[in-house]
Formats: sequence, structure tokens, C-alpha cells
Amino acid sequence: MLVSRSTRAPLSTYVTDILALVKTKNPAEPEFHQAVEEVLESLDLVVQRRPDLAKAKILERIVEPERVIMFRVPWQDDRGEVHINRGFRVQMNGALGPYKGGLRFHHSVTLGVLKFLAFEQVFKNSLTTLAMGGGKGGSDFHPHGRSDDEVMRFCQSFMTELMRHIGPDTDVPAGDIGVGGREIGYLFGQYRRLRNEFTGVLTGKGLNWGGSLIRPEATGYGAVYFTAEMLATRNETLEGKTCLVSGSGNVAQYTIEKLIELGAKAVTASDSDGYIYDEAGFDRDKLAFLMELKNVRRGRVREYADRFKGAVYMARDAANDFNPLWMHRAHCAFPSATQNEVNEKDAGHLVGNGVAAVAEGANMPCTIAATKVLIEGGVLYAPGKAANAGGVATSGLEMAQNSARIAWPRERVDTELHRIMKAIHRACRDTAEQYGVSGNYVHGANIAGFTKVADAMLDQGLI
Ligand code: NDP
Repeated sequence: MLVSRSTRAPLSTYVTDILALVKTKNPAEPEFHQAVEEVLESLDLVVQRRPDLAKAKILERIVEPERVIMFRVPWQDDRGEVHINRGFRVQMNGALGPYKGGLRFHHSVTLGVLKFLAFEQVFKNSLTTLAMGGGKGGSDFHPHGRSDDEVMRFCQSFMTELMRHIGPDTDVPAGDIGVGGREIGYLFGQYRRLRNEFTGVLTGKGLNWGGSLIRPEATGYGAVYFTAEMLATRNETLEGKTCLVSGSGNVAQYTIEKLIELGAKAVTASDSDGYIYDEAGFDRDKLAFLMELKNVRRGRVREYADRFKGAVYMARDAANDFNPLWMHRAHCAFPSATQNEVNEKDAGHLVGNGVAAVAEGANMPCTIAATKVLIEGGVLYAPGKAANAGGVATSGLEMAQNSARIAWPRERVDTELHRIMKAIHRACRDTAEQYGVSGNYVHGANIAGFTKVADAMLDQGLI
């Protein structure tokens, strides 16, 4: 039976006070407030059973980053004009291992966005079963429309400062929105030049210079593996199921690839300008076109509808308070673009159309109100920190290969990824059951991720 949050007692005064304090101390950071609120709702269940956590002020500590680094990133464009961007690295919690988490380059990046992402990352990394703390970083630099040379100059300037704060045993960044193989290459090159070290300081590296097979695929594949596990609890499989996917970047592409492999039909993809609907579904050729369009030509998703008859393109309409992508009939949905892309109304459309499972490929793509609608609607709903943990888990496997200076074959990495996703699914389900909220993956993921970090913090004393 699914137990929704709204059927629970209201939040305790203790947790309500911490939430109020977070809002006061971190004004103008709505995404961070949202992420903390979502996690604290679950942790209320834990602190009621564990007075030692309140005594050691673990919740108060866990919402405070261990360290935040903010710096100027000056660079010149191809015409010689000078630009100044802002760079960040949020080292949120290192109790379980070196800080680990991606870098995001997007005009919407602020300290609050990166704090929300770093906070989520702490629990996600804990769930992977690997030894990784949580961090996140990035810049308000927007790579769209920039030449390769401009991107390189920006990356070199960014790394010139960041290199003081990271290292293979300290903090190991990876990619995220706007940071793919090209950017990781430029960042790694500058780190290597400045430090005169060839180490596993970044993950998502090229295959011939320390990268891991399956790392590019891992987040999307992992989200699909997790969904298969959820459906199995209802004796269903993905075969023959229609699926909605948003985004058209790394996570969306490999979600579609794994869905094709498992016999499901992915019918949508999007970017910030709009989305395409292809009733016949993606096949391998269509996906190859999308990958070339996005990864090589860096074009817009609308071109897909020009190329394939039967596919339609819908431009984004800023006047809408809903996204029509989520109105198509489907069995599963994979929001894989960005935060808060599924609101309460969108969730209502998904439930109304009988969607059975929603797995967050992106980080926090559903608003809190949307998650409530999904859970109360009986949907198998996997939060990002569980569903998209395959990416960072495989980054952890890349770190292990770098430390041993060996490269595992594709099958071994994929088998490990699959095993980890199954383990995360089991941990979420078992923990939800232990806390009397069976079937609630949000509580399961938050509590399972948190307790491991909290116990490590207790063991390590007041730091
Ligand atoms: P990419 O940069 O490869 O792709 C991002 C996609 O999302 C693009 O299609 C982009 O469109 C779209 N998008 C970005 N911002 C917006 C917006 N404001 N509105 C609508 N569409 C938008 O990033 P990833 O695929 O790597 O990341 C996608 C999500 O998955 C993010 O939330 C990220 O944090 C999360 N994630 C990624 C992991 C990874 O391994 N890469 C691991 C775990 C989570 P456009 O081209 O128009 O910007």
C-alpha cells in the first residue's frame, strides 16, 4: 500500500524550526529551501526514533555546507571582448568520502541552485553504497552558441581557480547540464598542466585517457533499470510500454537507448525551446539522428520533426502553466531535463492519463506539490536521488579503475551498475517499510541515504 506524505501527522516543531532557520539564513535560495523541505519531511520520521541525532544537532549540521568556494572567472570571446562569470564549488558533506558531484554550466546557475544540487547529492551518493561525499559546482556561463575555442578558454580560466580546491582524494567533479565530454576534456587538460599530475580528479573523462566505459550511458540506463525494478513489484515489465521522456541531453539520450533495448516505446524528447512527439516511437536510427543533432551539431530538437515524417514539434509557450509533453498517454514518464519541469498540473495530467511509474532522470524535476499528486495518485514515483544515482555510481567505478590504473570491460561496468540500481531500489523499499510508509520511494530514499551519513558524522565527532 502506498502511504502519502499528506496522510501523515504534521511536521514536528523541531523540524519546522530547522526549516524556518534554513529559510532565514539562506534568503533568495528557493531551490535549496525546496530540497531541504522535501528531505526534512522524511527525516522527521527518523528523529522521532533517534534522539541522539537531535542531541548532536545532525540536522542543523547537514543543511550547512562544509565549505563554499565562489570565484571570478574572466575570459575573452573570439572577438576579444572580455566576459566575467561566476564560478562555484559547494563542498556539502564529506563524511562518507571525497566530495563528489557534477559541474553545471548554464545561465540559470546560482549559489542556491548549486546548494540544492549538492544537498541532494549527499544522500544520492550515500545510496550508491560507494564511498563518496556530496558536492556540486558550476558557473552561470552558458555554452550555447559559443565556439569550441570560447568554451576552452572559459574552462581553462574556471579550472585555474578550481584546481586549488579539488583533487582525487579531496573532491572529484564530473559533468552535469552544459558540461559533457568536451568540457571535461578542457578542464582536465588545464588541471594536468597546472598541477603536473595525471590523476582521477574528474570523472566522465575520454575513454583513451582514464574514462570508464558506460559512464556516458549510466544515468539514463540506471533510471530505466530502477523503473524496471519498480514495475516488477507489480509484476509488469517495460516491454511494449509507451514512455514520455523530457530533455534531449545526456540523460534523455541514454534513457531512450535503454528503453529501445528493452522493447519500450519512447515517444517524446525536448529542449528549452519545445518538444517533439513521435507516435511511432524512437528506433536506433532516430536516436542516432538525435545524438548527432545534439552532441555534434549542437542544434535544436525541432529539427527532428523536419527530418522524420509523423513526428510533430510543439514550441514552448511561456503563457502555459503546464507542459503539454506530459499530456500524452503513456505508461511511464522520465523527466530528464531540469528542476521543477513537472508542476502540480502536469502531475495531474500524468495521473489522469493512467501513468504507472515516474522516474526522475533529472534532479528535482517535480515540484513538491507534483510529487504529492503522483504519490496520492498511486504512481510508482522514484525521486532523482534514487533513480538517477547510476551516473554518480559509475563515476565511483571510474574512480576505482583510475586508482588501480586499469580499465574494466563494458559488461563488467554495466553489470555493476545494474547491481547497484537494484540495491538502491531494495534499500528504498525496505527502509520505507521499516518506517511504516511502504511503497513511498521518497521517504525510503531520503531515510536510507541520510542514516548512513548521519552515523558517519556521529562517529567522526563534532566537525
Ligand atoms: P545536458 O546538458 O546533456 O542536457 C540537458 C537537457 O535539458 C537539454 O535538452 C536542455 O535543453 C534541457 N534543459 C536544460 N535546462 C532547461 C530548461 N530550463 N528548460 C527546459 N529544458 C532544459 O544535461 P544532462 O542530461 O546531463 O542533465 C539533465 C538533468 O539530469 C539535470 O537535472 C542533471 O542535474 C541531471 N543529472 C545528470 C547526470 C549526468 O550524469 N549527466 C547525473 C544525475 C543527474 P537546451 O539544450 O535547450 O538547454
